[in-house]
Amino acid sequence: MNLVLLGAPGSGKGTQAVRLAQQANLKHISSGDLLREAVEKKTDVGRQAEEYIEAGKLVPDQLVLSLIMEALGALDDHAGWILDGYPRNADQAEALEDVLSTNREVIDAVVFLEVDADVVTQRLLGRGRQDDTEETIRSRLDVFNEETLPVLEFYELRYDVHRVDGSKPIEDVTETIIGLVDL
Ligand code: AMP
Repeated sequence: MNLVLLGAPGSGKGTQAVRLAQQANLKHISSGDLLREAVEKKTDVGRQAEEYIEAGKLVPDQLVLSLIMEALGALDDHAGWILDGYPRNADQAEALEDVLSTNREVIDAVVFLEVDADVVTQRLLGRGRQDDTEETIRSRLDVFNEETLPVLEFYELRYDVHRVDGSKPIEDVTETIIGLVDL
């Protein structure tokens, strides 16, 4: 089972991805985590990505793609994967289709976590990660609306996109997703 989880920053993607991955032995691939790890380790990718993350902007596609391809190529004993935070724009969605067709893999389900902008802002302010300042949050939400929402349209033309109310309690959201995608 290969799953793509879409949603605004603060929609609960990361939390849900961890829970779903555990439930179904999927590899949790979070582009944000991979990027933060690269920054911490001061790799070439990390060094180049740092300023974008701090500004709440998208890291250039090629840098992120290299990390995603590496993660997809190292599945170990997992029964599939769950992508969290990737793709973030239409070009990344196209690039992912290319990688998957080369790997003879498919996306089995796309889930979109819907949460109002004021709720996600409050959640992000409460979370207090380094890139969770008010200014950066505004920038990340703008990026989401302008660049990531088109990914939803891209997927709606190709797959069954499941829309889930992400403002519900964590356990309820997980249960709903499990029911919808038949995990
Ligand atoms: P996240 O942990 O998903 O909220 O991501 C944190 C930051 O990492 C984002 O604000 C971007 O700067 C960067 N990032 C994460 N995923 C991507 C992606 N798919 N494409 C470009 N930048 C990304």
